[in-house]
Amino acid sequence: MVSDKVKFCQESLTLSLAEKAKNFKDAGESVISFGTGEPDFTTPEYICAGANKAIKAGHTKYDAVAGVLALRKAISKKLREDNGLDYPPENIIVNSGAKSSIFIALQTILNPGDEVIVPSPYWVSYTEMILLAGGIPVIAETQSENKFKLTPEELIYAITPKTKAIILNTPVNPTGVIYSLDDLLALSEVLVRNNILVISDEIYEEFVYDNRKHISIASLNSDIKNQTIVVNGFSKTYAMTGWRLGYAAANLEIITGMKRVQGHTISHPSTISQHAGITALEEKGDIVHKIIKLFDERRQVMVEHLNQINRLDYIYPEGAFYIFVDITNILINRKNIIHPDTSYGFSEKLLEAAKVVVIPGEAFGMPNYIRLSFATSIEDIDEGFRRLNRFIDTY
Ligand code: PLP
Repeated sequence: MVSDKVKFCQESLTLSLAEKAKNFKDAGESVISFGTGEPDFTTPEYICAGANKAIKAGHTKYDAVAGVLALRKAISKKLREDNGLDYPPENIIVNSGAKSSIFIALQTILNPGDEVIVPSPYWVSYTEMILLAGGIPVIAETQSENKFKLTPEELIYAITPKTKAIILNTPVNPTGVIYSLDDLLALSEVLVRNNILVISDEIYEEFVYDNRKHISIASLNSDIKNQTIVVNGFSKTYAMTGWRLGYAAANLEIITGMKRVQGHTISHPSTISQHAGITALEEKGDIVHKIIKLFDERRQVMVEHLNQINRLDYIYPEGAFYIFVDITNILINRKNIIHPDTSYGFSEKLLEAAKVVVIPGEAFGMPNYIRLSFATSIEDIDEGFRRLNRFIDTY
């Protein structure tokens, strides 16, 4: 009954683990989750108050397809002040989460058979969204010695005459690494030379640690800016995952195309969420700073725990709220094995035996890794590692 493209679209690998975890919880078991992809607290009160005010003021109707003008103005100001990017409101479209910004961008730029480069490890939805848009994902392999950041040589190797775009994500989910100015300059030179569009997913931009700074590739020069669709959103920074609010900024031709796609599909994101977004940006004070400080403390606790397990290697997290952990040593040294486990098998057994949730690396194209999220309390991190240690000793 369903189309081939939907048949080929994979269901999330992590769903069955999430379901199992839920069953354990429903049965009254204590489950510790390192799986979370969202801040573990509710949306700040001032933003909820902004939404309530919007409802009372009657902002409950259709609005512009590109998004409420006042929000696009606030985003334009944010891009200028935080990222050094000059995009007037006409060059901005507001979507239902950064996920829908990427989906609509792909629908807008791809012809059937166009290739889109995705550096590995990658966020799982990229490949499926490319396929749904009629494109072909081309996975660009990267090296752990370079913290899995794409190099210009690896980029060149992935380019073919059919390459239309690349999806670049920094800070990276799942590795937590950040592309530096030099990294981005080197990549942008190749991208401009080969006329390749960039979807720059900057959703974790505020989650940067040790005085590092997030740099948008679009801010390097006008050539790369003209080829880039900057994507960002409110989910992570403002703990607004359920409000479904993201945005894209790009040249007028692309934004006009994206408006066409959005106008005939979802029209625009919830007007109420958009008004909450205006409040989030305009009245943010030092709330984001406080959130990042809290995440940094958790990150350090997690790193200390990991340093004490010498069979585990990991990529040092410079940003986002994830740590990508290499479990090869554990998998190949499993007691009484006939066949080594996969990271999915490891994660499943960890959940069943120790009631700890981690995301298997298969979800990011890396079967020897697991992803641990530190979007959880320090008490849970301590308890989770007590359980993880016990599990590894008997595995
Ligand atoms: N991009 C990356 C790398 C993500 O990890 C996520 C969410 O997990 C998103 C985009 C989508 O965020 P949202 O659609 O909630 O704005």
